[in-house]
Amino acid sequence: MASDDNATPAPKGRVFLVGAGPGDPDLLTVKAHRLIARAAVILHDDLVPPTILALAGRQAEVISVGKRFGAQGATQAEINERMIAAARRGLEVVRLKGGDPGIFGRLAEEIDALEAAGVPFEIVPGITAGIAASASLGVSLTDRRKSARVVVVTNHQAHADADPEAADWRGLIREDSTLVIYMPGHDFAGLRAQLLGAGCAPDMPAAIVSRASASDERYRFTTAAELDKLPRMDSPAVLLIGRSLDRAQRRATSAAALAFNEAELILSSLDA
Ligand code: SAH
Repeated sequence: MASDDNATPAPKGRVFLVGAGPGDPDLLTVKAHRLIARAAVILHDDLVPPTILALAGRQAEVISVGKRFGAQGATQAEINERMIAAARRGLEVVRLKGGDPGIFGRLAEEIDALEAAGVPFEIVPGITAGIAASASLGVSLTDRRKSARVVVVTNHQAHADADPEAADWRGLIREDSTLVIYMPGHDFAGLRAQLLGAGCAPDMPAAIVSRASASDERYRFTTAAELDKLPRMDSPAVLLIGRSLDRAQRRATSAAALAFNEAELILSSLDA
């Protein structure tokens, strides 16, 4: 039907709740990239880097709704209102979050609001920080021989308004678990005491990965017993704890030994 071919479809507002991945634009999904490029409105969190926002089309209204710690950001209610209002104007809205939207991303609250408003939405998954960090470390989070489960938690204990129920690590610490701790804070002495108190083996390998997948990514290995000796790392950072890190820790130790031997060699050649 020729007339239909030429007809402009009625505007259909919709919200895409999109994971931007850990930071490296190469780790965006093809779908996320396509949606970012064509969206009319993009509401993004602080974790989304400028290199990803640069993929937005010229037509897009790009709005930061992030809330840096201590800074004044949009409230959750304001974010919900903006998404709903734009979709009701018939616009395609991308609500862009770091990592995967469903991991510590307040996705559930936004889904509730969209459902209550009758606004159609779609979730587009992204690579979450813990997964990106495990790739950077060159490890497998599960391992048939030593890691039967992956436990994703956040370190509420580091915050003053600690939720007393969240302070119970006993159910989480197991010899065959890999713990992935988001928002680990900087109080690693407190975390160390809690983990060891909950029965974590003192020699359990641990690693902190700062800015996973970014060009300035950094990581450090330690053990549960020496968590308090970790240096302060740039945010965002994620902490991994478990036997599945054994291999990476061995690799790092032998690389450090190699570097040390090379340095010795250079020094001794200078002596000669
Ligand atoms: N939805 C996000 C997590 C949001 S909570 C995701 O799936 O990754 C914010 C926390 O995520 C940070 O405090 C940090 O612990 C972690 N995080 C996010 N991006 C990170 C990155 N590139 N490297 C290390 N940790 C990161």
